[in-house]
Amino acid sequence: MSTDPVQLLAEATRHMPLGVLDSYRYWGDESIFVRSLKGGGFTSTDGRSFVDYRLGYGPIILGYRDPRVDAAVIDAIQNIGTVCGFSTPMDAEVVRRIKKMCPNIEKMRFANSGTEAVMGAVRVARGHTKRDRILVVEGGFHGLYDEMMWRSDEDGVVPFGGGLPDSTRANVQFIELNDEDGLAQALASGPPVAAVLLEPIMGNSGSISATPDYIRTLRAACTAHGAMLIMDEVKTGFRVAKGGAQEYYGVHADLSTYAKAMGNGYPVAAFGGRADVMDVISFEPGGVTHGGTYTANLIALSAARATLQILDETNALETVYAVGRRHRELLGRVFTHFSVQHTFAGPDSMFGVHFSESVPLSWRDWKKTDAPLYTAFCKHLIQRGVMLEPDSREPWFFCEAHQEVDLGWLEDVAMQSMAAALDAHVR
Ligand code: PMP
Repeated sequence: MSTDPVQLLAEATRHMPLGVLDSYRYWGDESIFVRSLKGGGFTSTDGRSFVDYRLGYGPIILGYRDPRVDAAVIDAIQNIGTVCGFSTPMDAEVVRRIKKMCPNIEKMRFANSGTEAVMGAVRVARGHTKRDRILVVEGGFHGLYDEMMWRSDEDGVVPFGGGLPDSTRANVQFIELNDEDGLAQALASGPPVAAVLLEPIMGNSGSISATPDYIRTLRAACTAHGAMLIMDEVKTGFRVAKGGAQEYYGVHADLSTYAKAMGNGYPVAAFGGRADVMDVISFEPGGVTHGGTYTANLIALSAARATLQILDETNALETVYAVGRRHRELLGRVFTHFSVQHTFAGPDSMFGVHFSESVPLSWRDWKKTDAPLYTAFCKHLIQRGVMLEPDSREPWFFCEAHQEVDLGWLEDVAMQSMAAALDAHVR
């Protein structure tokens, strides 16, 4: 079988739309075919090695194929099983650990993906408030289900693509991050709001972050209007702090969603929050239904148990922050060397890089940054063995294994990449 990615993609195109099993993996002739992942990087089928700061969109917090997590999963598979459609004592054990790390959680349910976790949280918020309308902060991403596949642009609200009935946007209204007046107006007008949904640190908009003041105002406004505050911590959870963005801000949501880092790459997700809210999941009339064949399967649970134990009991996260900080400083030196105006958004474990004068405060600010230069920089980094999403809306993700990266090499490569990007870039 060929190892050449162009040939692999041509063959795959006969079997899958775009030749890939997930549309975001389609990079045309640059599509990547992985041979093997380990630690903070991987090799591709054509023998190239990459240090990887994309980390599969963020789930890898320890490293690829972390032997501690893998051993725990193998043990569970061999000694308990995979899927059983019944409860196990491990269920409460994992939730107890999450509650210890995230004091905003009183009760919880599991899911298989971030998308499913958001669906669960939104359904619970609606079931609890008996309201339908939700406010969503623009620039965030909350998964690929119809209601979340609308985004706000200068031209109004537009769908991510085809197949989305207009009716699926009827109960969604967008608000801008850090715009307190817009929030107040949206809450005060129209039908009562079931929930406000946001990524407090927008892992899908270059880690552009809510200000602490905005988060406090938002918390108070939701309480005043009887609306649920849902923080989508799919990217920030167990990454920006043990207790996620809510520890970072010192503000608790009513409901929160988690995925990614909680399983170091195993497919596991969860949503939870206030006990009185979560208890709407019941068989009472009007109670919310939640479940699924693969929900909290033993692969997912054992991976979460092992990953969370490491994050809670070792200094892994301190290592991740320290590694991220060194990378931020390194990039800062490179950009300064070339007199490229730059800012960093968000915390060191997942920062965004923006070529702008000041740190963007909303997705609209992001649109004014020199994102094309960032994309060009990334493309040159990729050619030189540094993997990133070439889109400044995706942050740099760090994992514990990145402590092994040769930063001298990286600085050289970043210098070469920025020089090449500027050569070609019409500013
Ligand atoms: N919420 C956020 C904040 C995310 O970043 C993502 C995925 N990038 C999702 C939800 C959806 O998660 P998944 O891809 O696991 O369905």
